[in-house]
Amino acid sequence: PACALASVSGADLQVPLVQGGTSAYANFDHAASAPALTQVTDRISQLLPYYASVHRGAGYASRISTECYEASRGTVARFLDAADDQAVVFTRNTTDSLNLLAGCVPGETVVLDIEHHANFLPWTARGRRVVEAADTVEETIRRVVAELCSKPAALLAITGASNVTGEVLPLERLADIAHLCGARILVDAAQLAPHRRISLRESGIDYLACSGHKLYAPFGAGVLVGRRDWLDAGEPHLAGGGAVREVGVARVEWASSPQRHEGGSPNVLGAAAIAAACEALAAFDPAELIAHERFLADRLRGGLTAIPGVSLVNIWSDSADSVGIVAFTVADHAPGKVAAYLSAEHAIGVRDGRFCAHPLLARLGLDSALRASVGLGTTSADVDRLIGAVATFVESGTSWEYTVTDGLWSP
Ligand code: PMP
Repeated sequence: PACALASVSGADLQVPLVQGGTSAYANFDHAASAPALTQVTDRISQLLPYYASVHRGAGYASRISTECYEASRGTVARFLDAADDQAVVFTRNTTDSLNLLAGCVPGETVVLDIEHHANFLPWTARGRRVVEAADTVEETIRRVVAELCSKPAALLAITGASNVTGEVLPLERLADIAHLCGARILVDAAQLAPHRRISLRESGIDYLACSGHKLYAPFGAGVLVGRRDWLDAGEPHLAGGGAVREVGVARVEWASSPQRHEGGSPNVLGAAAIAAACEALAAFDPAELIAHERFLADRLRGGLTAIPGVSLVNIWSDSADSVGIVAFTVADHAPGKVAAYLSAEHAIGVRDGRFCAHPLLARLGLDSALRASVGLGTTSADVDRLIGAVATFVESGTSWEYTVTDGLWSP
């Protein structure tokens, strides 16, 4: 099959991607957006001639689109092993999903200061309580417990995997803690879902948000999966056609979730793309994927730390788990300059900057950093190429000619 795993961990995967994975370009920016899988583009091509607005009567194309849209919902629910009382709402992206839930949460939300802004800014309306992460996971969890115990909170909103360092917190334990303290848990899985199989049922996660464009599907669609009672009690995220049961001039009867929050003509192609990506990802053996990714990330970490002046960036000293994201700095060189060099001289794409996590970067004492993130198409040759390019930069970096225009470095 097109999406089969080529061999055991350590070997490269044979993954059909629409872009990336070519020798011309080494993509280490999967954490920003992952290239689409061919299964995804095939699904979109099949649907394109028929797409129409859903739930709009018996028209031929509308019926096909409706079936495909609702089947996609089912696929996502199965991929995440959602419980019966959890609805799958299609949104624009993770940011949209989190803002939607923030409009439904019936009390205060506890967050860490390491979050992506998408899981930091939306929670202010009903009261946001920020816990400062400690230097260890254990102490950080202790602080979360203390905050949840100090006064009632409705929700613990936490990242599945840090978008800066890839570090993963023990989510099942945090779910237990939240529940013991009378709160629910939301996991921002934008970075976790592309790398790990998640069972909402087994982990006890109440709400999960992720984005199609990080899940090997194109931009424009995301999901919020979660318990219906809060979603049904909250104001509709987008008031309009499709979100209602009955409308009179003086009164309106809103639909229940998921339709309640999906007003307007939905992104049928985006939903179908996410479903195709979920099916493709589900075809992999999760343990082999993890082993393969660890192999690449360990090789990258080992190679980078051997280069003089290169330091790895982590939040916690006792992290037990991480996805294939490696953050680093190069002494005496602005991350933007290093990223521009890698791009211009070696056709290697990494991310530099503050990663929409300003409080975390401030905590780490960094103005900015570099981030290399691996994905399904990353090969060990790509990893060696990146290590070699950073080493060459360190040897000759000061002589590399560049200009800065509007804050962007270029040769
Ligand atoms: N949370 C995390 C952890 C992320 O990495 C990102 C994207 N960088 C987001 C939320 C926001 O995702 P989107 O831009 O697709 O809404």
